[in-house]
Amino acid sequence: MNLEIPSKYKGTLKAAYGAAEKILRPISRKYDLAEHTYPKELDMLAAALEAMNTPAAATEQVAQSNESNTKNGNNMQSVLYIQALNYGDVGMSLTIPGRGLGNAAISAVANPEQLAKFGKTWASMAITEPGAGSDSAAITTTAKKDGDFYILNGEKIFITAGERSNAVVVWATLDKSLGRAAIKSFVVEKGTPGMELIRVEKKLGIRASDTAAIMFTNCRVPASNLLGNAEIDVKKGFGGVMETFDATRPFVAAMSLGAAQAAIERTRELIGAKLKLTDFTNPINNIDAVEAEFFRMEADYEASRLLVLRAAWMADNRMPNSMEASICKAKAGRVCTLITLKCIELLSSIGYSQQELLEKWGRDSKILDIFEGTQQIQQLIIARRLLGKTSQELK
Ligand SMILES: Cc1cc2nc3c(=O)[nH]c(=O)nc-3n(C[C@H](O)[C@H](O)[C@H](O)COP(=O)(O)OP(=O)(O)OC[C@H]3O[C@@H](n4cnc5c(N)ncnc54)[C@H](O)[C@@H]3O)c2cc1C
Repeated sequence: MNLEIPSKYKGTLKAAYGAAEKILRPISRKYDLAEHTYPKELDMLAAALEAMNTPAAATEQVAQSNESNTKNGNNMQSVLYIQALNYGDVGMSLTIPGRGLGNAAISAVANPEQLAKFGKTWASMAITEPGAGSDSAAITTTAKKDGDFYILNGEKIFITAGERSNAVVVWATLDKSLGRAAIKSFVVEKGTPGMELIRVEKKLGIRASDTAAIMFTNCRVPASNLLGNAEIDVKKGFGGVMETFDATRPFVAAMSLGAAQAAIERTRELIGAKLKLTDFTNPINNIDAVEAEFFRMEADYEASRLLVLRAAWMADNRMPNSMEASICKAKAGRVCTLITLKCIELLSSIGYSQQELLEKWGRDSKILDIFEGTQQIQQLIIARRLLGKTSQELK
């Protein structure tokens, strides 16, 4: 395994950090205060990222690394860019045109025709329903075959970029009586009759990102918009749609890395100026309590970073990574929340006030330990894998 950052990414990665600092940070506060206003500056950023040829989502391609015979491909590249953009702003990184969670789903399970059709469409992801959150197998949105179409009925809530994206990847069941195996995902393009935006949420953090509720009432979707295999394979169970999470969980974990990195760096700058913080060259018996907190935060950050790289590397090398994807998401999500709050604590009044972005980062980071599976759900998945238990045996 090679977890060195491939040299071929270094140039564009530097540009991505530059964009995070020069484009996202200066408008962070503005769009935090102006919730539900689209940050129009992101159109320019999206075009620049496209020009730099950064992946909108991981695809199956794998590039040979120069450094060794291991392979680093688009999953590795994606987590590095996602970290860089989230170092700028978590909310805005979720609303950059063309880079939705639905795009990752399309990349993970679409066939070549679907990739050609929807690969460049900004797509959000709609799994959650009023009666189905952590237990995604409980969804009740239905898809009934009608000739060359499926007819969708149901309510989806908390869809990141659901208002702004050009398509929504909707999870629906073909036959509730057949359980998880009958759950399939469908690309529903914006403006399809029967698809209605009913609400945009007001939130604790990531306020630059819209979070929508959408109702589907007799919404007719071309049968070719079903992602993956239309057959209901009871033996494979949830396999098809769940593969999406193996790709997206490391991405959300990488978001945590960006936010944690930003908080540690800014706090070090501010405390360093105030308390003359040393630079790790001090003998251990001279380390003060504040510096010890930095050691802990940096160690947790670095452990999270390596776990994210491992999960992405496994995906690039086509190794099953469900457990590693959950491990990195659980670790990075928890660590990011702890670090951003610790940084507020270390700076006290400055950390809590709006003079700095630290209080915002504290609010933004909590979602990273909730969506794409909460902390508790990741731990459950890891336990099932370690103990060899099914979801029926360990709930
Ligand atoms: C800002 C925001 C954006 C979102 N974006 C999207 C999106 O783009 N697409 C989408 O589909 N969804 C999205 N969601 C929904 C998100 O994925 C869910 O909130 C999450 O899966 C948890 O579901 P829930 O809120 O219904 O909580 P619940 O499932 O009701 O869980 C409540 C609490 O119980 C715990 N819990 C639940 N089951 C167990 C168990 N078996 N063992 C131990 N503890 C358990 C949970 O960890 C949690 O702490 C978003 C949510 C928010 C807030």
